[in-house]
Amino acid sequence: MAELTDYIKGFAVTFKKLFEERVTGDYRGGMAKAGQPDEKRPKVERLHGRHVLNRYEDGMEKCIGCELCAGVCPAKCIHVRGADNDPDNPTSPGERFGYVYEINYLRCIHCDLCVEACPTQAITESKLFEFSFTNRDDAIYTRDELLVGDDGKPRQLPWEDWREGEDEMTSGWMRATSPSGDHRYEGIVQWSGELGYGVRAPELGQSADAADAAIAAGAELDADPAVGADADAETSSGGDR
Ligand code: SF4
Ligand code: SF4
Repeated sequence: MAELTDYIKGFAVTFKKLFEERVTGDYRGGMAKAGQPDEKRPKVERLHGRHVLNRYEDGMEKCIGCELCAGVCPAKCIHVRGADNDPDNPTSPGERFGYVYEINYLRCIHCDLCVEACPTQAITESKLFEFSFTNRDDAIYTRDELLVGDDGKPRQLPWEDWREGEDEMTSGWMRATSPSGDHRYEGIVQWSGELGYGVRAPELGQSADAADAAIAAGAELDADPAVGADADAETSSGGDR
């Protein structure tokens, strides 16, 4: 008898939940029939999703084939090979470019260490995580698939579910970090321009709003000219690649 009472109590909880507000969304992966909802939840600004390989404003590729991203990857899922640029028709500024670039998404844990390690901001992550595969080959993204198109936006592959506006924030991480965690660099641009976007504006820092506003206005940098000079130097070198 006690068992029956427990069952009834359990089903009562289930029944009660039927009339409460749902916490799940109506997401159908782009497969909704006419009249059916198909909504994605808004994502946080710094979400780590599918990677992209970025290009400079003149169309040149940022990757120099240095393999730092592959070396730092804890899941060992990046395969890079560099090659010498053709002096008459270079792929990237400088001597080398990423000739082979592959990421195995069966292994990637989206930790973003590759993004942090990259010296040229070539590899960043978009916010897309709605992608799946039916075979192992499709799970290995190649350079052609990762490289942004001529408009600077990620290529949208048939098995990916992109929605309007999702291809815009491919470098959110750059606006969130400051070198070595030094808050005095918050709000200071230290990255180069991107194809299709130009030089992205910095977002305010991770401290309180009032402090952010002061830092963005340069108040603290003015108080310490040495730091300001260092920051300016880094800014200009980043802009010059
Ligand atoms: S996000 Fe992390 S696991 Fe994925 S490729 Fe980059 S370093 Fe490797
Ligand atoms: S993506 Fe960055 S770290 Fe990786 S090989 Fe290219 S330049 Fe080096």
